[in-house]
Amino acid sequence: MSSQVLGATLLGVDGLKVTVEVDFLRRLPSVAIVGLPSLSVRESADRVRSAMLASGFEFPRQRVVVSLAPADLRKDGTGFDLPIAAGILLAGGRLDPERCAQYLLVGELTLGGLLRPVRGSLAFAALARDLGLKGLVLPPGAAEEAALVAEVDVRVARTLGEAAEFLGGTRELARACPAAPGIHVGPLDMRDVRGQPGAREALEVAAAGGHNLLMEGPPGCGKTMLAARIPSILPTLTPEEALACTRIHSAAGLLGGGGLVSERPFRAPHHSISPAGLVGGALLRPGEASLAHNGVLFLDEFPEFPRMAREVLRGPLEDRRIVLSRAGGSITLPASFMLVAAANPCPCGNLGHPTRPCVCPESARVRYRARLSGPLLDRIDLRVELSPVSPSVLLNDGAAEDSAAVRARVERARGRQRERYGGAVTSNAALPAERVVEASAPTGAALSVLQRHMEHQGLSARVGRRLLKVARTLADLDDGAPGPVRDTHVHRAVALRLDDNLEAG
Ligand SMILES: [Zn+2]
Repeated sequence: MSSQVLGATLLGVDGLKVTVEVDFLRRLPSVAIVGLPSLSVRESADRVRSAMLASGFEFPRQRVVVSLAPADLRKDGTGFDLPIAAGILLAGGRLDPERCAQYLLVGELTLGGLLRPVRGSLAFAALARDLGLKGLVLPPGAAEEAALVAEVDVRVARTLGEAAEFLGGTRELARACPAAPGIHVGPLDMRDVRGQPGAREALEVAAAGGHNLLMEGPPGCGKTMLAARIPSILPTLTPEEALACTRIHSAAGLLGGGGLVSERPFRAPHHSISPAGLVGGALLRPGEASLAHNGVLFLDEFPEFPRMAREVLRGPLEDRRIVLSRAGGSITLPASFMLVAAANPCPCGNLGHPTRPCVCPESARVRYRARLSGPLLDRIDLRVELSPVSPSVLLNDGAAEDSAAVRARVERARGRQRERYGGAVTSNAALPAERVVEASAPTGAALSVLQRHMEHQGLSARVGRRLLKVARTLADLDDGAPGPVRDTHVHRAVALRLDDNLEAG
């Protein structure tokens, strides 16, 4: 008397099929779960027994063996409660085997028999589709996320009883409706920013080419305010990008029943974050770098981030993805983001302030500045210094340009990049090293200006290529037809990198 139903577990942002096999043995009543279950999966036995009894089912008075396959994959989380309960009911002849074979089952059970959502249902829906299944049975709060995958039949079950009646073929369950797009977080707009023409230009160039950016300036000069408005000038998410972002947020359990992520993510972790929190790892959950995929990762007070945290970002900045090693292989998480860092001029923040004195010892200032160089900073193409905005500018209520106007220029520049690269590469910043010279088509004068800078400042080939990418973006921002990279673009790219901070790389 054995049965098989289909469950799933989450690996990074991907769903993985787990076959739940249940067998009854003529021994003393007990439950054994085999197949590398974690503690939370082993505790499932108690939840399932209570939920079944509370729902009016009998619990078998035999030894129940639950086997989770593939056996070498570690199973974690509470989502196996529903398939284990269904497997027991199926083995007892209470469900329709054909219907059970068509649906993927994921959900946590309360002791009273209610179903509760688990994270990652969007990935499970994609899995059901890829397996050619008819659909999924999910708890409310998870089903609406899964319904964003249009090709599968997602049914909402509030209780174990409802799920059992559906799987037994004695009732129908409501189909889940896709959740409405996430709530618009609010009108963060560039028109709220007074003054700061240099920073506005740097933001526009960064957005137009997907370049990384560092803003330096005293506290209160508007660095955070500017950074938070970058998503408002980035191109609108394409449907594929929106789904990719939603899948990551779903896997991290951050969607909270909300719908498609419809705006570019802006993630601003505090400097006390652990390396695992930044790039993922704890329980294989996506970290901030993946949550910022297709958007902005903002590191305020960048020099305060511990060295380890800064180091782990080098990989994703180079490869646009994160590879986490685990027992039995590795998983890959998407992490293509714009890095925006902000720093005060010194630990107290007052260095260079017109009225407030800096109280930092010279040694502290030197240590602080040293953290603004090195391999990670080498990957930041644009640096801009901000000063406090003078009261006369703050009081002048002449309207600044709004985000829509900036975004229109950014969209045009990105459109030129898409045309040039044919879709596989979405921005100049993402262009592979070997294609940079060919794609930027520099004039002879532009190349010699670049060579002169590289020789004078001892720049590495990598920094040279990064300069050329920014120059390409400046050319893409030009009015009129897109042309080659000219010497003026290279000069401007060098100036935007603030050459006094350049590293020899
Ligand atoms: Zn200071």
